[in-house]
Amino acid sequence: MNCPECGEPDSLCQTRFDEFLVLEFTDAGYGTVHHLTVAAYMLQHSSKLTREGWLHERELLREFLIENKPPAFIRKQKKDLVDSGKRKFKIKSRGGLPVINNTTWTKTILDVRVENAQIYCEDVTAWARSALDESEKISQV
Ligand SMILES: [Zn+2]
Repeated sequence: MNCPECGEPDSLCQTRFDEFLVLEFTDAGYGTVHHLTVAAYMLQHSSKLTREGWLHERELLREFLIENKPPAFIRKQKKDLVDSGKRKFKIKSRGGLPVINNTTWTKTILDVRVENAQIYCEDVTAWARSALDESEKISQV
């Protein structure tokens, strides 16, 4: 069965995502783009998120890619937000219904090559940028 959210066959996207997380946690060269991998994957698999969570991930990706904020800085901001109890929304969904109904993406996680850390980081960045561009065109969220 094709993934109902990103369209990849046999839901290979989930397998690949799990493999990438292991790779990123075991090799620092790959780990530098961990924040992009997670945000891009979540944007393209919105059933894992609430509506607010999806919008939050999109905003995060924009901060990483467009505003060039370093992940550590954003993590601190997020932590402050959580600590101060300002965040009133849940990020993860239990309902399992997609937030968006877009299932065609120019790039998915399957476009990322893993030969070496440099290629991997370039491909993850290109995938994340493409996911952000397409997500920002979605007006009905
Ligand atoms: Zn998928």
